[in-house]
Amino acid sequence: MCFIVIIKRKQIDYLIIGAGLAGTTLAWKLHEMGIGFKLIDAPKLSTASLVAGGFMNPITGKWMTKSKAFEGLLSEAIPFYKSIEHALKISILKPLPIRRYFLNPEDSLRAIRKIKNPRFNPYLNQLLAKGEDSNGITDDFGSVLINEGYWLDVPKYLGSLRTYFMRKDLYIEDEVNCEIFAKKEIGTWHYKGLHAKNVIFCQGIHILNNPFFINLPISPIKGDVLTLKIPDLELPNGLYYKKRWLHSIEPSLYRFGASYETGISDLGTKLETRNDLIKSLQIMTRLPFEILRHQTGIRPTTVNTKPIIIQHPIYKSLYAINGLSSKGTLSAPSLAKDFIHYFHNKL
Ligand SMILES: Cc1cc2nc3c(=O)[nH]c(=O)nc-3n(C[C@H](O)[C@H](O)[C@H](O)COP(=O)(O)OP(=O)(O)OC[C@H]3O[C@@H](n4cnc5c(N)ncnc54)[C@H](O)[C@@H]3O)c2cc1C
Repeated sequence: MCFIVIIKRKQIDYLIIGAGLAGTTLAWKLHEMGIGFKLIDAPKLSTASLVAGGFMNPITGKWMTKSKAFEGLLSEAIPFYKSIEHALKISILKPLPIRRYFLNPEDSLRAIRKIKNPRFNPYLNQLLAKGEDSNGITDDFGSVLINEGYWLDVPKYLGSLRTYFMRKDLYIEDEVNCEIFAKKEIGTWHYKGLHAKNVIFCQGIHILNNPFFINLPISPIKGDVLTLKIPDLELPNGLYYKKRWLHSIEPSLYRFGASYETGISDLGTKLETRNDLIKSLQIMTRLPFEILRHQTGIRPTTVNTKPIIIQHPIYKSLYAINGLSSKGTLSAPSLAKDFIHYFHNKL
């Protein structure tokens, strides 16, 4: 008796290129739904997500404005990251106490006005007089406490999911040359032995080299962050903001940033930027410090800072998720949900 075994070549639903916040978050959502995918990333390329502060902050910018759509995005993000903590038995998300120091008397008046406004009231509700519990921070005009902030340990989030996907054979390390994508059969994209119905490019700033999405309106905004040891500064865990942010991670260990250079996409760390950051740090504290690390990353930004989910106008099975700007941590879970809602459910 003879058996004929037909080996059917396995075709996956999605090939995701890029394992920063956008790609990794989408991969987990697909995985939860039992949808087939492979996630590819080139660790040699720069990843903005690995430099990010990881903050979800309701009140930002010079004028203390409310982050756009904060409530809706946060209500998607928090249960999403908590579900990963639960599934992988890790701790990646923490509430983030935020204290914002005023730069001048006008800043303080602005905060007083905003506290009275019901839109701001859940977030801004306690003023501190100048010098109150200053803990080594120069505090000439007082400060305000900001509620409802969160911090995601982004490197741990991405690293844990990468390890998980690797074990399940869902993650590949490779720098994809998008030029060599070939469509040999209708409905299937081929890449080095992988056969996918759809390809989603989650490449951050590297999308600008992708021939399929070369005209996507993404602009680079470079940002540098310093990791510091400040032995005499004992700030409780939290975010301290005075023109720039100082993130207290563990006793004496801080991250300080971030610079904001529009239109710049080179990845070198410059002495000039480092010196600018040091000047800003010295406005905040005069205590001695040691620089342990200087990192740089490129925020993939859109003009109105709204992220982009796009289907290629000709090749309908190619997509891009990009433009997470300065809010990748907050917006990635909603973007992944929207992608599935608008595109996957209609396939
Ligand atoms: C200094 C700084 C501070 C920030 N602080 C915050 C913050 O506090 N809160 C916040 O929410 N956001 C913050 N951001 C913004 C946040 O980092 C971005 O919104 C987010 O990281 C963008 O994620 P992404 O996945 O789109 O891109 P990326 O994180 O850049 O990931 C893209 C990935 O694609 C891979 N890739 C690209 N091309 C290829 C290819 N051809 N083959 C294989 N792999 C490829 C890259 O290797 C990379 O891993 C900050 C950014 C910077 C620079």
